[in-house]
Amino acid sequence: MSTKFLHQLKRKASGLIEDRLLKTGKVLDVRKWDSSTIVEIDLHLPSTTMDDWNEVPYMKCMVADLTFRDYTPSGWDVETQTCTLYIDVNHNGPGSRWAQQIQTGDSISYLGTNTTRQTPVNTSSIICLGDESGLGHLLAMQQLSLPVSRFSGAVLIGDEQGRKLFTEYFKTPLQPIARNDIYGHHSLTEWLLQQSYNLEDTIFYLVGNSTMVSGLRKVLRKLGFSNHQIKAQGFWS
Ligand SMILES: Cc1cc2nc3c(=O)[nH]c(=O)nc-3n(C[C@H](O)[C@H](O)[C@H](O)COP(=O)(O)OP(=O)(O)OC[C@H]3O[C@@H](n4cnc5c(N)ncnc54)[C@H](O)[C@@H]3O)c2cc1C
Repeated sequence: MSTKFLHQLKRKASGLIEDRLLKTGKVLDVRKWDSSTIVEIDLHLPSTTMDDWNEVPYMKCMVADLTFRDYTPSGWDVETQTCTLYIDVNHNGPGSRWAQQIQTGDSISYLGTNTTRQTPVNTSSIICLGDESGLGHLLAMQQLSLPVSRFSGAVLIGDEQGRKLFTEYFKTPLQPIARNDIYGHHSLTEWLLQQSYNLEDTIFYLVGNSTMVSGLRKVLRKLGFSNHQIKAQGFWS
């Protein structure tokens, strides 16, 4: 098959997907953290109903031609159909490049939204641990944890300025933690070992890179927590 024919085929497939399957959202605001690696994107999604978002959702965004990446809406408002994405851009990939060039007023295309099936279970203590790519997921868990007093945990934020900003800007019990190892599981483990959690009423939610998620799961098992007390969502490896 010639390269020219392949290109034509790809363009046609792309056109078909765009016309028939994609939904459109509007970018209301973009906030790039100073000296940090997170881009916050406020979206209006007029074709998406949010009133059944009882579990943490995710949306499949088109980040380049026929290329899709999953991101987690948080802080959603059912009436205005708005939400915010938190995208970690500290690496080179199509999703990261897409997030870095996005601007207020842009339109975005997405295939739709779905559920991660994660939701705070009915227990007195919900502990969420994650990295920068899991920030949206952690904040969505906070939004769903009612009463919010049972929600706490920690999030890795690589740079000091980012951690300061996080503490000032976010109304959350999540503690920003410095990253002292590549994937962050040693840093989060160190933090975890300084806490004292009840072995019975605590459920952990781990979210972000797969090395960190599996490392923390092992630590929690060693500490005596059972498999059903550990809910994990590995995003990338
Ligand atoms: C359900 C779900 C929800 C998700 N929600 C979010 C979200 O809200 N925010 C978010 O940032 N990501 C989220 N992710 C991860 C996201 O979908 C992509 O996998 C990730 O952003 C990488 O896409 P990319 O195209 O930038 O890089 P890729 O092309 O996929 O990867 C390029 C290289 O970068 C590495 N890499 C990928 N991500 C990171 C990272 N965050 N830090 C360092 N290195 C990395 C990869 O291992 C690879 O070597 C979610 C994933 C899932 C499955």
